[in-house]
Amino acid sequence: MIPFNVPPYTGDEDEYVLRAIHNHKISGDGEYTKLCSKWFEEKTGASKVLLTTSCTHALEMAAMLAGIEPGDEVIMPSYTFVSTANAFVLRGARIVFVDIRPDTMNIDEKLIEEAITDKTKAIVPVHYAGVACEMDTIMDIAARHNLIVIEDAAQGVMSTYKGRSLGSIGDFGCYSFHETKNYSMGEGGALLIKDPSYIEKAEIIREKGTNRSKFYRGEIDKYTWVDEGSSYLPSEINAAYLYAQLMRADEINNDRLKSWNRYYELLEPLQNKGLIELPKVPNECEHNGHMFYVKVRDIEVRTRCLAYMKESGVLAVFHYVPLHSSPAGLEYGRFNADDEYTTIESGKLFRLPMYYGMKDAEINNVVSDIKSFFLNGSKN
Ligand SMILES: *Cc1c(COP(=O)(O)O)cnc(C)c1O
Repeated sequence: MIPFNVPPYTGDEDEYVLRAIHNHKISGDGEYTKLCSKWFEEKTGASKVLLTTSCTHALEMAAMLAGIEPGDEVIMPSYTFVSTANAFVLRGARIVFVDIRPDTMNIDEKLIEEAITDKTKAIVPVHYAGVACEMDTIMDIAARHNLIVIEDAAQGVMSTYKGRSLGSIGDFGCYSFHETKNYSMGEGGALLIKDPSYIEKAEIIREKGTNRSKFYRGEIDKYTWVDEGSSYLPSEINAAYLYAQLMRADEINNDRLKSWNRYYELLEPLQNKGLIELPKVPNECEHNGHMFYVKVRDIEVRTRCLAYMKESGVLAVFHYVPLHSSPAGLEYGRFNADDEYTTIESGKLFRLPMYYGMKDAEINNVVSDIKSFFLNGSKN
């Protein structure tokens, strides 16, 4: 049996977590949270990186910081995870879905401008599979229309666009450290902030609407309720687990890229025969091997191929059902212009097993399964 995902684990986590326990500081914002934040600030160039309890919560914080109000419109792709939309729906926004590009499965930057109305407040690019959206174009549109850009970089930790870290290009960026992501703390995330003038409000939102962060730094002598907020601090135990992985970030990244490249080389002959399509990474993007996906002719071939693989013990899985056709998507959003690619392309796509420490023999196994489906078993 080859699993679809194995949560990242280097072996050092045990020691770091034990140290957090023995520090007698297991709530949030202790030593390990600070170390993680600092590591990401140095790596990405963001003014501030705040660890959160999830990427979903980082997106919710970004929606509050962006001042999203009932009736505002927020532009995003329909081919994404529910949290991308929910964070804004919770503030009363309407979601305006824009079609994707078939090459990267990312929002089509050329279709964004025509979706803008006088109610539009923000654009939310989602970097699918850790491959960047066309950020220069998106930032230029946002500047001309005075819109806020919030990057859903849940899958984009360690990826870059023209040398810049994903999550650090827009006004806000959101990372995920869920167990299905490249670096994990079980459940967790981070909010990246570009403009330092947002930092104080972000700290208040994250600390239940209080100025406790200022209090801990000794800047005030008692803390109080100053604004709206919630509780978005992860425990030190989780932060310690993550920090162990950040200490080996390059090793994890290189290992995933090695697996990704192996898949690509072994599957290229099937692409050359026109049987499958492999992921495309534009020149200006460096990705992080988050995901290896394959596209087949249509949803019917996909269904048969996934069933065939499952039978031989390989867990490949499809991905997002487009949000605009879901019950909540119909209620809270609208699709701007034509759905030329979102529904059709998402129906063709499935993801292959991919995790840190995946063995060459396992990759060979997955590939030979796909090959035997196309070369012998496709009439099953
Ligand atoms: C994983 C993911 C999320 C949610 O992350 P959580 O940390 O589980 O809240 C949001 N958006 C995208 C694109 C994701 O892949």
